[in-house]
Amino acid sequence: MQASNPPIFDGHNDTVLSLVKTGRSFFERSTEGHIDLPRSREGNLGGGFFAVYIYDPVNLAREKGRSADPEASMSIYADESTWPEPMSLDYAQSQSLSLLGRLLRVEEASSGAVKVVRTAAALQRCLDTGVFAMLLHFEGAEPLDPEGHALETFYAAGLRSVGLTHSRRNRFARGVPFKFPHSPDTGEGLTDEGKELVRQLNRRRVMIDLSHLNERGFWDVERISDAPLVATHSNAHQLSPSPRNLTDKQLDAIRERRGIAGLNFHVGFLRQDGGKDTNTPIARMVDHIEHMVERMGIDHVGLGSDFDGATMPAELRDAAGLPALMQALRGRGYAGEDLAKLAHGNWVRVLRETWGE
Ligand SMILES: [Zn+2]
Repeated sequence: MQASNPPIFDGHNDTVLSLVKTGRSFFERSTEGHIDLPRSREGNLGGGFFAVYIYDPVNLAREKGRSADPEASMSIYADESTWPEPMSLDYAQSQSLSLLGRLLRVEEASSGAVKVVRTAAALQRCLDTGVFAMLLHFEGAEPLDPEGHALETFYAAGLRSVGLTHSRRNRFARGVPFKFPHSPDTGEGLTDEGKELVRQLNRRRVMIDLSHLNERGFWDVERISDAPLVATHSNAHQLSPSPRNLTDKQLDAIRERRGIAGLNFHVGFLRQDGGKDTNTPIARMVDHIEHMVERMGIDHVGLGSDFDGATMPAELRDAAGLPALMQALRGRGYAGEDLAKLAHGNWVRVLRETWGE
């Protein structure tokens, strides 16, 4: 008899953008995008990090009312020379308030089926009882002012995780461009305001996400932050030399700092050739897990799908396909407590250490 799968808690999705673009409901099974409540239940997805990502104004205009390829607008981030000017604080705050509000309304409309989690204990309770857990995350710190006032407001609204930047630059940091193949060492590290933001996030015990950050920024956070090092949705650079992936040296630092890296399912970050080929097998996802576990141990690897924001292997498709990944992991010998750690346990442990409750 097949043992039952542990619930999955996932380190990254762009579902709120997919809901906005397609107009679909989180509560009805859709053929568009990758996550909704029915497909989550089918795949035993118990929740995850829900990203607030803010389009640069040029891309927002392009995206309005379209449900096309989520990555179509990402081409301007392939090279630093085409990066837009950093967006204004006013613009970033108005956009983020609207997206955050949409996520809070999903909880409100769910009649108790969805909960925004603010503590690790609440997350664990959700996983134990089948309530879908939503963790509010900023993929880019653009809505935060350097004095830290807005951080208090967003924290009160439920924000518990912040990535300093997406693959672009802002007042705090520089991300990696989507070049391939390339090293993640692509320029200056954190600005002085970025270093101060790391201290503010530490004081507020908000998780800091290193995915998208360039390598010098990564080492700046490693030096300044007192929290576990976390890359929510990045793979092994050794197996797919994208600057979005982590070098073995970075993986070693994450292990030493009791952190976690979440497996990104995007085919371009899985493949050795970086191609966007949906015929990439689930076995390739497990190859990255194996490399990361070999390098860091079973306690420092989790999942960070990038559902609703990236190109999935056809074999997996969407959240309803997650049991196929669990099956493949079992096939490589992960079972029992180890499988539960990969599925959700490591995320809960790192969040408990970071948040302190
Ligand atoms: Zn991302």
